Amino acid sequence: MRLIFLGPPGVGKGTQAQRLSETYKVPKISTGDILRKAVHKNTSLGVKAKSFIDAGMLVPNGVVIEMVRERLKEPDCQKGYIMDGFPRTIEQAEALGKMLKETGSVIQQVMNFQLSDEEVVRRLSGRRSCPHCQTVYNLAFHPPKQEGVCDQCKSPLVQRSDDESQTILKRLEVYQRQTRPLISYYKGQKLLTNINAAGGVEDVFKRVVSAVQKGKIG
Ligand code: AMP
Repeated sequence: MRLIFLGPPGVGKGTQAQRLSETYKVPKISTGDILRKAVHKNTSLGVKAKSFIDAGMLVPNGVVIEMVRERLKEPDCQKGYIMDGFPRTIEQAEALGKMLKETGSVIQQVMNFQLSDEEVVRRLSGRRSCPHCQTVYNLAFHPPKQEGVCDQCKSPLVQRSDDESQTILKRLEVYQRQTRPLISYYKGQKLLTNINAAGGVEDVFKRVVSAVQKGKIG
């Protein structure tokens, strides 16, 4: 199973990728998670990435492409993967295409998660996460049992610094300008499946699994 999850920030790709990864036992490769970990650990990658992430901008293509190239060499990727948040530009998509060609593999399906702008903003503004175990909550429709505290590990929840309102608008603008063109790019390659991302996590997950089954992969 080699899948790409495409869509604006806040559409729920990460949550769905996590569920699918657990169901099909393939790794989820989230470039956002890898970058945030690097920032947290203050590695040289993290230092390079931090100012871009905080500004709601994309980290330079070269940096992210090398990071993914290294990740794909790890043995758990042999059985496949779900890419969450990569590629995000045509240049990244072309680089991924080249990497796959070198190893004789292909992407089987690109899931394009669709949601109205208002709902995207609502989901992003309500998002809270646990810095310890990474569980994600939403104040509007999936709140923690105790306000501000993680259900799983009882750590205090935080708001991602790039989920603050000014940065949200910047990220959506960056999505429209740099990432949206990937929809036509993958449509042209006959790989695109649209997924209605409205509704609850379970409903969307059923649509994702049904699309995977229709695509006869996994
Ligand atoms: P995400 O968690 O996927 O929303 O990513 C958070 C931030 O990490 C983005 O706003 C970018 O600054 C950076 N980022 C994640 N993936 C990429 C990528 N494929 N290309 C460039 N920047 C990325």
